[in-house]
Amino acid sequence: VASKFKAPRGTFDVLPSDSAARARVYEAAAGAFERAGYGRIETPIFEETELFARGVGESTDIVQKEMFTFEDQGGRSLTLRPEATAALCRAYAEHGMHKLPQPVKLWCWGPFFRHERPQSGRFRQFHQIDSEVIGTDSPLADAEAIILLADLLAELGVPGVELRLGSLGSFETRVAYRDELRSHLHANEGSLSDDVRSRIDSNPLRAFDSDHPGTREVMEGAPTMLDRLDDDDADHFEAVKAAVSDAGVDYVLDGTLVRGLDYYTRTVFEFTSDALGAQSALGGGGRYDGLVAELGGPETPAVGWAAGIERILMALGEAEEEQSLDAFIVAPDGQREMALSLATQARRAGVCVDLDLAGRSEKGQMKQANRSGAARAVILADDGTARLRDMETGEERPLDTDDVLREIEAERRKAGS
Ligand code: AMP
Repeated sequence: VASKFKAPRGTFDVLPSDSAARARVYEAAAGAFERAGYGRIETPIFEETELFARGVGESTDIVQKEMFTFEDQGGRSLTLRPEATAALCRAYAEHGMHKLPQPVKLWCWGPFFRHERPQSGRFRQFHQIDSEVIGTDSPLADAEAIILLADLLAELGVPGVELRLGSLGSFETRVAYRDELRSHLHANEGSLSDDVRSRIDSNPLRAFDSDHPGTREVMEGAPTMLDRLDDDDADHFEAVKAAVSDAGVDYVLDGTLVRGLDYYTRTVFEFTSDALGAQSALGGGGRYDGLVAELGGPETPAVGWAAGIERILMALGEAEEEQSLDAFIVAPDGQREMALSLATQARRAGVCVDLDLAGRSEKGQMKQANRSGAARAVILADDGTARLRDMETGEERPLDTDDVLREIEAERRKAGS
């Protein structure tokens, strides 16, 4: 019977059959961060709205159109977090982490919320792995962050990965560049989309993200930030590129890479996969040297990235579910308590065992054992004896019920499972 209720638009349930693949991504990420000296942080799912308005930027799509904002009973405006960086910077400042040895390396994993138009690979509740290195302006930190994500995607086996790399310069150089870009856009106003035209003054850089044909044509003739970097920014970018190349990570230079958030300075990057459709971004990030100060903390340079877990899983395709049960216990009615007692002992000893709890016949239990993917079945008989059945070959042999646990463990070791 179909339920009257459905998961809200743009959200989805992670079903047990999907969870092994997710856990594999989580474990790979946790391992990569641990090897690189990161600490895991968890921040609230909602924050003061003002944090994102300031941190992400008033003129961004996220703040203008996509936030799930609500008022609590005390009249405070709160927002479900649309991204992690602002909250992690808030936590860095709030807990005085600038007094720790710098940089502070943080990572987190969890749900994020954006009121976007749902489509393949784009959800209203999605999940990200987020990584931030706060308290250094070294280009090696940018490179380390990029290499970490490149290696993680490679370790997971994500196909068709491409890295695009650019630099937005510092705030000062960008101010001059923005003016230049505004003039270019105003000079070609008639060819631009309404959306881009309305943001010429507030956010001209976003014009590079437009799919509108007229706008794209105008942007092809636009100067790019890469042509306007000052000497310091250019040196910084050269050092990032050199360290990324040294690590054997290939990239494509992209002077039009803007990214949807306002806080970036200098390095910006994005990983895409050609195994994905229109929403091809796996993850990306960049340097944000002004953000911690913007949120009221001390002047603190930082760099970070976020990667979409659903996008990674989509690019990986259907994962094969691993067989995880060591044994399934099949028992006649008179032996059901015995079956539970054996299962309990086995589980306490770290062996993965399941049994029937739905009153199935023995034949039904054998079917269930098959479906469960268990490597073997322990088949109890009315007279208290037992057999061990290899579910793959169908071979059976007698089993001493006092020794079931030891036997399963021995079999498991033999199979190396
Ligand atoms: P962003 O925070 O916008 O830089 O996004 C980082 C990554 O999160 C993107 O590259 C996507 O992989 C993923 N992502 C962002 N928005 C969504 C969404 N609405 N649904 C699914 N994944 C998303």
